[in-house]
Formats: sequence, structure tokens, C-alpha cells
Amino acid sequence: MAITLEQLASKLGYTETEMQKKILEIGLEVTPTIEEDMAELIISEVLGKTEKSAAEVYDSIVEGEQEKEIVKSQRKQKAGKIVKKTEFRRPERVELKRGGNSEIGEHISVKELAEKTGVSPAVLIGALMKNGILANINQVIDYETAVIITTDLGVQLKKTSASASAEDIFKGNLEKLLSEDEAEDLKPRAPVVVVMGHVDHGKTTLLDAIRNTDVAAGEAGGITQHIGAYQVDHKGRKITFMDTPGHEAFTAMRARGARVTDVAILVVAADDGIMPQTIEAINHAKEANVPIIVALNKMDKPDANANKIKSELVEYGLQSEEWGGQTIVVPISAKKREGIDALLESVLLVSDVMELKANAKRPAIATVVEAHLDTNLGPVATILVNTGHLKIGDNFIVGQTFGRVKIMRDHLKRPLKELFPSDVAQIAGLNAPVESGQILQVMANEKIARSKASQVHEMAHEELIKSAGMGMQEILVRIKEGTLKLLKVVLKADTQGSLEAIKQALAKVKNDDVAIKVIHSGVGSISESDVMMAAATPGTLVLGFNILEGSNVQRLAERLGIEVVTYKVIYELIDDLKKILTGMLQPEVLLIELGKFKVMKVFFTGKNEMVVGGKITEGVIQKRGKLRVMRDGVQIGEGNIGGLKLVNEDVEELSKGDECGLRYQGKILLQEHDVLEAWKEEKKMKTL
Ligand code: GDP
Repeated sequence: MAITLEQLASKLGYTETEMQKKILEIGLEVTPTIEEDMAELIISEVLGKTEKSAAEVYDSIVEGEQEKEIVKSQRKQKAGKIVKKTEFRRPERVELKRGGNSEIGEHISVKELAEKTGVSPAVLIGALMKNGILANINQVIDYETAVIITTDLGVQLKKTSASASAEDIFKGNLEKLLSEDEAEDLKPRAPVVVVMGHVDHGKTTLLDAIRNTDVAAGEAGGITQHIGAYQVDHKGRKITFMDTPGHEAFTAMRARGARVTDVAILVVAADDGIMPQTIEAINHAKEANVPIIVALNKMDKPDANANKIKSELVEYGLQSEEWGGQTIVVPISAKKREGIDALLESVLLVSDVMELKANAKRPAIATVVEAHLDTNLGPVATILVNTGHLKIGDNFIVGQTFGRVKIMRDHLKRPLKELFPSDVAQIAGLNAPVESGQILQVMANEKIARSKASQVHEMAHEELIKSAGMGMQEILVRIKEGTLKLLKVVLKADTQGSLEAIKQALAKVKNDDVAIKVIHSGVGSISESDVMMAAATPGTLVLGFNILEGSNVQRLAERLGIEVVTYKVIYELIDDLKKILTGMLQPEVLLIELGKFKVMKVFFTGKNEMVVGGKITEGVIQKRGKLRVMRDGVQIGEGNIGGLKLVNEDVEELSKGDECGLRYQGKILLQEHDVLEAWKEEKKMKTL
């Protein structure tokens, strides 16, 4: 066995260089490793020892090395044992606990993951460490990480909900959120019904009648609360009703892109007929693609005339079944509580055809139906569960705020522990008030709920600045892009005659790429409800003929970014729509001359920047804007205004006669007597 030069040197008490010298002195060759014979020769020469004792020295070197090796390997072995001890036993496929759920959202804490998968937290923490993540039991990990470690442990995770981006929550992209469910997880759910119709036709009476025919509710004997929604049991099947008669709830929710109602009951008083709000309701339901069941109310009245109503309904595309159409028309008397069973039966019939389903296993996504501040409970909200389950203690984000479910109760104030799809309840535990139509979504824990809520809050703020609706500019851009194929219009006019004339003229406006569709029309002034309707359907204009809109309407329209335009001449209205369709209505860029500034003194010269003093000789100068630099009447360059100072104060704008300081940004080296001409660009939409 050979030893190294280094080992030999160290044994003999020399440095490597000294050893090399000695070897050379002996007349031998220096090599990094030295064979036994050669080593013994060197030892005996250097130490003057006998051959035998040289051999002993050599042996001691070798033994020393071997010992070292042994120690090393023992250490390794020991270390190996430690590794073995901490190496995790890979369990056989982990059996989920009964009721366990391997569906998780975007984030989950180690503790919750352990609960869901049945794998002990220690094992999960170990698996995370193996993957380079130092975690404690409360550590929140993302879905991908959870999948990596649990796959190793033989557990299959499934991503369900809670993957909603702040944007989806903010925009209420409920359909998108719900579409994430896989078909196999979907189970039948109760229909959600909204009651609409003209004022005084009996909506409230009908909703009361339905609530009171529910035996369970009757038995409880509690005083019913109007919490915005309730659920009844009809022959063992549940039906959820929106308890807000009218169109507001419907539109408010739909304005956020959510289809929360499955069936619309259109209440028409048989002694009256189709009235403006009846038409509005029909249009709302049609726009939202919600099937209509007509409740022909007040049939107990002597002047009730079912046939008259049925024939009127035909005009609106609601031909009754008896007359060969598709629409179910149920004669009732809400007051006498007659025909209610048949009506509920029809609701179930229609919803059966729709095969309404939802995933009851995932964490809930719900829609706020009604919300207010309760003196005892703080902000409360009535919510309708669209999918998933919600239980006491769940953390959630709702609208721009977050919370934890503290109390859940139904319209009879009965406490509830858990909600499933189509269930409704009033919940407490919100951190701030919310609005109807906002989306609630269960989050893994408070931290995530809080941070997502703040993201949504920021987004809402930005969006408010940008304005939420689709104004004229965006409509035009979309038409040009080809992404808007249907220009929708809410049309109001002073008389039926002019309304018809406009409709006929509009029908003739044809374009290969974009069509016009009047989604709602009526006689009378433009109402807030018209604007809400436009807001609920992106790409809708509100047009008025020979009418005024109130200031409330204008304010609402501005807030929602809805274009409301009124005309006095039919031709102009039609002409403008033609222009929109052909993209002829363009934003114009206007060049606006502001004023002139004469340089009198140069205060500071920097790189591409100067501060000069001078006098405004014409018009106004603003603290931001573009400049032309004129010298002896000739333009020699350009620049920008970076600021404006009067004495030592920053100012927004100064006008003719003012002497001030001006920060110039540009390449030209300004001189005394130069004239700076300020101008700005203004993008102006050639308005309708
Ligand atoms: P809403 O404005 O649509 O909610 O209408 P209400 O439910 O408030 O009803 C308006 C009026 O019609 C009330 O005086 C009710 O008592 C009456 N009413 C409602 N349903 C019936 C009915 O079936 N028969 C009769 N005779 N009157 C009814």
C-alpha cells in the first residue's frame, strides 16, 4: 500500500516542501504517492534508522490512516442511522378518515391538511422538510406544494374551489367559479325562485302565502323575518325563494354577472293585465335566460279575465301551454291561498327539466341576497349558497371584506350549523357591511381571507376610478376588435307611437358584423332600474327619446359607467347608432393651445432639465404639459413642463401676466427671450 507525501511528511515532522527537499537530497524522485519500499528507504535515510524500525514507522503511518478511515466510516454509519431514524415510513395508501375530504383549495394549513387527509401533522411536516420547506403545524402551504408532499404519501388531492382570483371575486364571475366543479361531484339541488311583476299585482301576498303553506315553518310558530330569502318544503322537496319582490334584487345580483335564480314567477293580476313592470320583468328574465312561470293572480275577483291576460302574454312570447305554447300559466289567488300547490308543483317541474346541480362537498361559494347592520350582531348578510357547504367557524371573504361564520339562522330565526347548495341563511361574523349581489367564498384561514379581501378592495378602488361599466369608449373598442357582436339597447320614449317608430327604424339598421337588440323598451322617463338593467348586461346603451332623465339616474349611470343619451330627433338617434356600428364614431384627439411663457432668467441647468424664471404673456400655463421652444419666432425644439412655482409655492396653473418659475424638461438649452408655447392633447369622444 502506498502512502502520500503529505502523510509521510507529517509523520516525520516536516512540511511537504521540506520533505520534497529531503527526498531530492537522498537522490530520489518526488512523487505524490510513495510505495512501501521507497517510503521505508526515505524513512531510514532521513531518521537514520534501521530497516526494521523504518518498517515500523511506515506501518504506523498506514495504521494511523486506517484508523482514521475506520473512524470516518463509523461516523458515516452513525450518521446513516440518524438519517434512518428520521426517514419517514412511506405509509401504505392512507385511508381517509370517515367523512374526510381530500378536496382542498388554493391554500391550506398543515393542520387542516392533516385533518383532511388523515396523515399526521408530524409526517406532513417531515415531508415538507424533505422538500426543503421548514414548516410548523400552522404553516399555510399552497395547493401545488400540498400535492407534491401528499402524492409522496400516497394521498390523492383534488383542487376544488377557493381558487378564485381576487378578480373573479370582485367581478363576481360566479359562472366561472362554479364551472370549476367536476361533473362527478355534482348532486341535485333545490331551485331558486324569484317573484316578479307589476306593483300591486300580489307579489308580496304570494310570497307570504307560500311561506305560510310550509308546514315546517308553521309548526315552528316563529315570527317570520324578512331576511331576503327563505326556503320551503314542498312534499319533501325544497324550494328557495327570494323574498324581495320586484326587480332590484334580481338586477343587483345579475349586475355582478351571477345567475342566482333558476326560475322566475311572473305575477300578473287577472283583473288587470300586462303593465310596464310586467314587461320589464319579462325582459329581465329573458335577458338572464331564466324560464318564466306565470302566476295568474287574483282569480278570486269577479272581473278576473284569464283569457285576456293569456292573449296579452302571447304578444310577449309567452304563449300558454293550453294555447299550444311553452309557458306554464297557473291561475291562483294569493289572498285566498288557492293554487299555491299547483304553482309550486310547476316550479319543481320546470326545475327538474333544468337538472339543477351543485357540488355539496367543496368549500362554499355564496351570493349575498340582502345585507344590513344589525344593532346586536353588527354587519349581517343573507346569503344563498351557490355551491359547496358552509359551516359555523368557516373563514370567508365576501365583497371587499372578510369574516368568520359566527351565527347562521333561517327566516324563522332557527339556528343552523351547516348550509348546502341552494340553502339560504342570515349569517353574522362579517368585519364590514356588504352589498347584495356580492360573492362570499370560504377561504382556508383568516390570514388568506384577509389578504384576499384587501386585494379585492384595491381592485375595487382601481375599478371605481376606471368606472365599472362598459361606456361608449369601450363599446367602440370592442366593436372594432370584433368582440362585441351585439349592441344592446334599453330604449325609452315619450309615447308608444315614437317608441314603435324608433324600434322599426332600428330593425332596419343592419351591419354585417354587429346587430342591435333592444333588450328593454318602454314609455316614460329613464329610471334607475333602466340603468341597472344596462349595467347587468355589458355592452348596453340607454337611449331616450323626447324625455328627460333625473339627476339620480345620471349619477347612477356615471357611477356604473353606463352611457345614457337622449335625443329629440329620431333620425339623429338612428344615425348615431349606424355610426357606432360602422366604427365611424371615433375618439378624436384635439390639440389645445394653452399659453405662452417668455424666459427672463435661467436659474438652473441640469441634464435634460432646467429651471427658468419668466412671464406668462398669453393664456395659461399648467404644471404639466407639452412645450414648443421658440427662438426668434422659429421653433427650435420641444419639451415638457415638469412643474410650476410662484415665489416658492408649487402651483397648478397660472395665467397671463403672472411671473413664475418653470421647470423645463427637454434637450434644448434655454436662453433669455426664448418663448415656450404650452399645449396639450385632449382625447375627446365625439359624443352621441
Ligand atoms: P305587490 O305590490 O305586487 O307586492 O302586491 P301586494 O302583494 O302588496 O298586493 C297588492 C294588493 O292586492 C293587496 O291589497 C293584496 O291584498 C291584494 N291581493 C293580492 N293577491 C290577491 C288575490 O289573490 N286576490 C285578491 N282579491 N286580492 C289580492
